[in-house]
Amino acid sequence: MTHTHIAGSIHADYSGLQPQWLQWPDDLNALEEKLWPTGTHRDEQGRIVVGGARLTDLAAEHGTPAYFIDEADFRARCADFREAFPGWKIYYAGKSLLTRTIARWVAEEGLSLDVTTMGEMRIALAGGMPAERLGFHGNNKSAEEIEFALEQGVGRIIVDSFHEIERIEAACEAGGHRAKVMVRVTTGVEAHTHEYIATAHEDQKFGLSITGGQALAGLVRCHHSPYMDLEGIHSHIGSQIFETMGFEVAIRRTLKLAHQFKTATGVELPELDLGGGFGIAYTEADTPKPTTELAAAFEEMIDHECRAFGLRRPSLSIEPGRAISGPAGVAIYTVGTVKAVELEGGRTRTYISVDGGMSDNIRPALYAAEYSAALANRTSDAEPVLCRVVGKHCEGGDILIRSVFLPADVAVGDLIAVPGSGAYARSMASNYNQVPRPPVIGVREGRSSVLLRRETLDDLMRLDVGE
Ligand SMILES: *Cc1c(COP(=O)(O)O)cnc(C)c1O
Repeated sequence: MTHTHIAGSIHADYSGLQPQWLQWPDDLNALEEKLWPTGTHRDEQGRIVVGGARLTDLAAEHGTPAYFIDEADFRARCADFREAFPGWKIYYAGKSLLTRTIARWVAEEGLSLDVTTMGEMRIALAGGMPAERLGFHGNNKSAEEIEFALEQGVGRIIVDSFHEIERIEAACEAGGHRAKVMVRVTTGVEAHTHEYIATAHEDQKFGLSITGGQALAGLVRCHHSPYMDLEGIHSHIGSQIFETMGFEVAIRRTLKLAHQFKTATGVELPELDLGGGFGIAYTEADTPKPTTELAAAFEEMIDHECRAFGLRRPSLSIEPGRAISGPAGVAIYTVGTVKAVELEGGRTRTYISVDGGMSDNIRPALYAAEYSAALANRTSDAEPVLCRVVGKHCEGGDILIRSVFLPADVAVGDLIAVPGSGAYARSMASNYNQVPRPPVIGVREGRSSVLLRRETLDDLMRLDVGE
């Protein structure tokens, strides 16, 4: 049967293969604005340009796979939060992507920074982030990490358990420190996101439960501690959240808890932290809210609940990670093989294997996360075909993009760009199959600089000290 391709009116049958959210593309060469660093475009020869540099040139210079971070875009997203939330403290979640240079950008943009481990603290401090602007998170901070944080003068420790309270007190006693703390609570909100990244419902490892009474007990315990200055309540309800409803419930429950604390102690807690989790566009189907809209919604909810509970408005903070680092980053891969796999009913899925995979982006395998992609080195007039972009690892689940339309002529040697790759890709990367991890390259005004170099086989060999 011959198809006549008139304005895309007839196309291949992907029924049952194409997810509902994935639209037949009008123009495969178009770069949807919300997915890419601001200013990303194609040059006159169709090559994608990020941060003023052609991805073809960047790939030639730095190799693939690689992560390119548009510095101006990253800084603009910091500034966007700073300006949309005036008077709030903004903690960039370092776990989403952290290098010394990135810590410096965050510091220069006037933001604070969340860390979770000794490693993240060391990188943040080495990048020039002042210790007093660090928030120290984690559900199992070691005594060594707590001592180090206190010695450095960390801004605040977000307490996650009663064992940790004892550990902090012991460190304060031994080192002659005082600790500024917040208590992380679980509000019972189940954010509408993947199960593994919804963190405020009750049956999980983080925080102290409000409904179980541990949250109030933890707050009172810290309040009476001779070693602690209790700053307030911390709530983080999950990640990749688009609706404000979950935050609304969290605000009501945390402020109700603040009211109960006031009743119990006569003291008003000075601060409330609402955590991060603000969703970004990984695909055309994602519709993040502008930060100004988030801010307005939060302000209104907080005003309303403070009035209801007779509380003064506390100092406020949030902790965006991916909303800053995610869209600023683009991953580049080289196509190694293309395979059309025939399925029942005469349908075909095209498997495109690239030179990375689950070792440099585990999110699709871990959370069934979706991404999009574009041909980076050229445009194409070929018809769209439904593709699956897969990695080079020994796992059937080594999928980078489950469903994406790419041109039918994608060939070995082409470059595939994956937007939204700044967050939780390199930071969660592994050496699975003994693959060296890709570099993180900063791009600014057409120039690139290595923030995190590519791992080498020598690096891997040096770790292997057995005989
Ligand atoms: C992961 C995390 C964040 C950031 O989440 P994003 O989805 O990257 O915004 C903020 N706060 C806490 C406590 C977290 O664990």
